[in-house]
Amino acid sequence: MRFDILSLFPEMFESPFGYSLLKKAQEKGLIEINLHDIRSFAEGKHRVTDDYPYGGGGGMVMKVEPIARALKFVVPVRTGTRIILLTPQGETFNQEIAEELSQFSQIVLICGHYEGVDERVRENLVDGEISTGDYVLTGGELPAMVVVDAVSRLVPGVLSNSKSALLDSFSTGVLEYPHYTRPREHRGWKVPEVLLSGNHKEINKWRRRESLKRTFMRRPDLLKNVNLSEEDRVVLRELGMK
Ligand code: SAM
Repeated sequence: MRFDILSLFPEMFESPFGYSLLKKAQEKGLIEINLHDIRSFAEGKHRVTDDYPYGGGGGMVMKVEPIARALKFVVPVRTGTRIILLTPQGETFNQEIAEELSQFSQIVLICGHYEGVDERVRENLVDGEISTGDYVLTGGELPAMVVVDAVSRLVPGVLSNSKSALLDSFSTGVLEYPHYTRPREHRGWKVPEVLLSGNHKEINKWRRRESLKRTFMRRPDLLKNVNLSEEDRVVLRELGMK
């Protein structure tokens, strides 16, 4: 899995990608993250990457030519590649999109800044547009980090226990059950007895129930798309779901 990130501020990525699992994944050669400075693809003495908007109004717009040149450089042959523009107007990023993207061998992420990028980039040069949520950030760098992180952990070998990703919130359609670790008791706050019982059938039952309960309380919208067993339905009815 290879990521190519086009940004005006590539230095912003050094620290987030330089620690923990993403660092290890790069060292092991499971993922490759290439940072490209859009400015180095701009022409002229001043390497200008943005300009005033046609029609007037405030703010600057990122020019199409440096981005087009950068894309030609990072995607010489288009096989298994997905080119994504980060924009608050894009499809809202979620686990399903992360899973889809993890099937590609190269993901190119274009980070906008200022008022955004010239519309011709969106119209002609990209395969999709992703937003990380309904808010506006100063640039696409933080959303790009979110996408790289969420997709990378789905690449086989990146997580030491790849089964755990299958059980994570959203992967199964519901939120994950709560976790506890040692000590058994802290300031009178106890770990649920069932988790200490060693009875795996009961533990799994408890976990499924907690998972459904959490989803029902916090994200009932998710339950519409889950394949519920008869046992799940009984639990949800007990919790008050109609
Ligand atoms: N004028 C744009 C608009 O109203 O849709 C917002 C531009 S924003 C200030 C600058 C850049 O930040 C965007 O081009 C995009 O790359 C990035 N950005 C901001 N918020 C984002 C979000 N929620 N998701 C993805 N990218 C975002």
